Amino acid sequence: MKSECNCDWKGQHEVKVEYDSIEKCPKCNKAISPERLHAIVIEKDKGYWFYVSDFCSACKSVIITEYRLEADGRDRFDRIHRFNNSEFINSAPIIFQEEKFDEMIKKISSQFVKIYNQSLQAEKMGLDEIAGLGYRKSVEFLIKDFAIYENPDKVEEIKNTWMKVCIEKYIKNEQIKVLAERSDWIGNDEAHYIRKQENRDITDMKKFIKAMVYFIGMTLITEDAESMENKNNRG
Ligand SMILES: [Zn+2]
Repeated sequence: MKSECNCDWKGQHEVKVEYDSIEKCPKCNKAISPERLHAIVIEKDKGYWFYVSDFCSACKSVIITEYRLEADGRDRFDRIHRFNNSEFINSAPIIFQEEKFDEMIKKISSQFVKIYNQSLQAEKMGLDEIAGLGYRKSVEFLIKDFAIYENPDKVEEIKNTWMKVCIEKYIKNEQIKVLAERSDWIGNDEAHYIRKQENRDITDMKKFIKAMVYFIGMTLITEDAESMENKNNRG
């Protein structure tokens, strides 16, 4: 939401700041119409910064949001009097909510669940490069642990093989195979200097991970159903 506010500038005069106020509270994740409590503009690190505190009436918390500013209006004394360009940096406090996974997935790969959630936390904190590496690692654990579950006699081989080989050799379900392979392509981009899949990023990888989790879950349920003994023909 476009907002505007007048701030005191070094105790000398007022400056007008245009900015996009937050629409979601970072703490409770509810959509909010923030009530502005206070705002300041400061000069530091060779730039201009804007801090605004808002009140979230849903969780009764004070939220501080930081913006980077570019001065683009000066008065006849050559003093800054307007900031039209503001870039949102972050809002705090952030309360991190873990992604919940089914018990079946946790049982097969507790490491996947742990690494995925650490990556999600990094992403929420704006550490997108680290998050990308984390998601890549989570895919490797999910696929290898699932492969081990399906091929219990090949534990050492699967642990020591490349992801690419593991997918080709030990993943039978075609959907999981495609999703794992494509996630691996994006994952390699997150780990290497040169990006090959230019139009793909961790948003795609996360979608693929969700779909893999779904198909792995369905496979496990189907295998459980198949393990039933037919007792209908008795007697
Ligand atoms: Zn809130």
